[in-house]
Amino acid sequence: MAYDNDNIFARILRGEIPCKKVYENEVALAFEDIRPQTPVHVLVIPKGPYVSLDDFTTAAPADEVGGFFVAVAETARRLGVVDNGYRILANIGRDANQEVAHFHVHIFAGRPLGPMIKRSS
Ligand code: 5GP
Repeated sequence: MAYDNDNIFARILRGEIPCKKVYENEVALAFEDIRPQTPVHVLVIPKGPYVSLDDFTTAAPADEVGGFFVAVAETARRLGVVDNGYRILANIGRDANQEVAHFHVHIFAGRPLGPMIKRSS
């Protein structure tokens, strides 16, 4: 899938849409999810134009990929959720219901998070 420069996270990165920033480094930006599903719900996105993890790890240099995952961990530290624990999750593609086609990792925390994934019958 081609990257859409007008997706909502691209617009946040360009400052066209506000966000509640939690942390950023050279390659990543972390901000609060607009529809939080847990008391702490933060998104971490690469600053570059990548649709998915596949796209990101294929097209981005290794230091950018590394810097992104360091930013995820640093964001969790700054949120103060490391001791109690947290969950990171990335929806990728159709079967995962990826809503925004700019690669992102969710950080969920702030309460017991239950089973890892909803069981279907
Ligand atoms: P996905 O389903 O693609 O993994 O998750 C997309 C997430 O982006 C959702 O949790 C949704 O609430 C969040 N989101 C969508 N639009 C905006 C926005 O304009 N600002 C922020 N901060 N989050 C958004």
